[in-house]
Amino acid sequence: MSIEELRFLVVEDHSFQRWVLGNLLESLGAKHVFSAADGQAALSVLADMDPPVDVVITDLDMPGMDGMEFIRHLADNWRRVSLVVVSSLDPSLVASVGVMAKAYGVSLLGAIEKPATAKKLAAIIASHGNAPHHPERAPVVFSPEEMAEGLREGQFEAFFQPKVEMQTMRITGAEANARWRHPSKGLIGPASFIRAFESNGLIAQLTSTILADSLRQVAVWHRSGLEATVSVNLSLTSLSDVTLAERMLAPVQAAGVEPRHVIFEVTESVATSEPGRVLENLSRLRMKGFGLSIDDYGTGYSSMQRLARIPFTELKIDQSFVKSAPTDASGRVMLESSLETAGKLRIPAVAEGVETHAQWDLLRGLGCPLAQGYFIATPLEAGEFLDWVRNHRQSAP
Ligand code: C2E
Ligand code: CA
Ligand code: CA
Repeated sequence: MSIEELRFLVVEDHSFQRWVLGNLLESLGAKHVFSAADGQAALSVLADMDPPVDVVITDLDMPGMDGMEFIRHLADNWRRVSLVVVSSLDPSLVASVGVMAKAYGVSLLGAIEKPATAKKLAAIIASHGNAPHHPERAPVVFSPEEMAEGLREGQFEAFFQPKVEMQTMRITGAEANARWRHPSKGLIGPASFIRAFESNGLIAQLTSTILADSLRQVAVWHRSGLEATVSVNLSLTSLSDVTLAERMLAPVQAAGVEPRHVIFEVTESVATSEPGRVLENLSRLRMKGFGLSIDDYGTGYSSMQRLARIPFTELKIDQSFVKSAPTDASGRVMLESSLETAGKLRIPAVAEGVETHAQWDLLRGLGCPLAQGYFIATPLEAGEFLDWVRNHRQSAP
């Protein structure tokens, strides 16, 4: 939808600033700009408006209903609306309200510090079309029969995303991410099906398929002279089955791959659950010689003490911090503290989701040893991986 078609609601108690925001929007081409002087008034505008408001631009510090309470009401009744926060409050406070809005399920386009300018607004509004509208997007539902058939028919495969050493650009490994080549729905990413596999008791079979694919590829890479590791994602639900390590080891041995060339990734939340079985599995996998990686680090609120109990060999910094670090102070703090945690655990850190030159330069400057992300390469089909590696070698310094 173009800016001319979008319907905006400006919520701001200060009448001059309300007027400025309205003018800025109109200077960008907006044709439908409404305003309200506080949260309560905004809620009644939202309730009356037909067609509905598309984008709400709100201040946080307002008398009566403040911005935080207003956002909570938005989440309850108007989740379709996209939100922009404009505030002169401390950036870390604005950032925490941003996290709060997301936690409430509101699609937050962004936060801007006052004074708002046409440029800042334009950049944020441009992302409107890409913002996820949670309640609208019907989740793709797969029946257990469809999933089981997909497994039987070999419709699942791994795509491989290279992981490189930041100082040298050397490829040290690749992460396997599951894809479903669905006969009628096309290529489907794991976000649409992993949970369904977990809750239908089919995740172990899927993991076996992805592991088998990964082992085939790692053997091909080694034969062609690329000494790289392969990383396979493990669900937390798999970690309560004490036969896991044996089930993982058997195909690795059968493929003639050394366990040290296989890394299992488990999300950081594993450190906060840690029932006996989980620790038994992780210890055994490590004892067999596999690598163990903490995935999505920074999202799980685990303590150093708990992390140190698990024999991890790598820490992957969650993409969200990598994304925000160049422009957002709290993202940068998280990045630095993740690197510090990896240092204390004496394991290498991998920055995930590196997309831009600015992110790359910042990470390199902070001494992050390894990186993954679209800036280097997207996950690649198995058959394309070695071609990419050859081109990469030619273009690397
Ligand atoms: P993850 O383990 O954090 O994997 C990284 C995800 O980020 C992948 O999404 C990858 O395609 C994406 N990505 C990589 N670089 C960039 C970047 O620069 N920018 C952005 N925006 N994204 C990037 P994908 O393949 O959709 O996988 C999503 C998640 O699904 C994975 O997150 C992982 O948690 C899960 N998953 C994937 N394969 C498996 C599997 O075989 N088993 C289990 N249990 N989970 C899996
Ligand atoms: Ca992963
Ligand atoms: Ca991750």
